Amino acid sequence: MTEPFRQLVFCPQDPQWISTGREKQIDLETVLRSVGLIASQVDVSSEGRFAIGEQFLQHINFMGCAPAVEFTPGQDKKLNDTQYWHQFTFVLIPPERNQPACYIDETMAKPKCPACNKRTALSSGQNYFDDSKSRFSCPHCQHSSDLCELDWREFGGCARTMVSIVNVYPKEAIPTESLLLQLEKLTQIDWRYFYYYGHLVSDKA
Ligand SMILES: [Zn+2]
Repeated sequence: MTEPFRQLVFCPQDPQWISTGREKQIDLETVLRSVGLIASQVDVSSEGRFAIGEQFLQHINFMGCAPAVEFTPGQDKKLNDTQYWHQFTFVLIPPERNQPACYIDETMAKPKCPACNKRTALSSGQNYFDDSKSRFSCPHCQHSSDLCELDWREFGGCARTMVSIVNVYPKEAIPTESLLLQLEKLTQIDWRYFYYYGHLVSDKA
């Protein structure tokens, strides 16, 4: 079993959005490089995994007294893959998916039902999902929603396109408003973010 990763994940507000379409051709990697969030790939074989860019710390605020954040990979080549990728903060741009994928922090998430606008804490121990875990049943009004229709705030998200900052702590790494505005301007779509503790968002949910 792979060790979970703490991630800060950006995604478009529209779960179906992808960077290429009939009327647009946006290279997300170029966008992120142009704002200085990413530099080059961590190494030649690590497709989609980038070192942080020179403006990274202008875009992501780190709270707390002394966050232990490493930005460069260790030199110890004897480390196995799992240990290596847990040592330092990097930016992951997974391939865009055919369908939106949903990632939820079930210990923190309180999704809001689109029918009655009431929130439900998933941590209550009750199961509100169907067997395939693609729908949520609201305990307040019994309305059944696709997971992508719920408002997850910063503890869940649903998207075909994601950008993940890997190995940062929830609420300790906070994106600036300016970064979200720049992403919006360069991609013509609103972006949001959430925190996720689990496998990398490039892996199967
Ligand atoms: Zn409801």
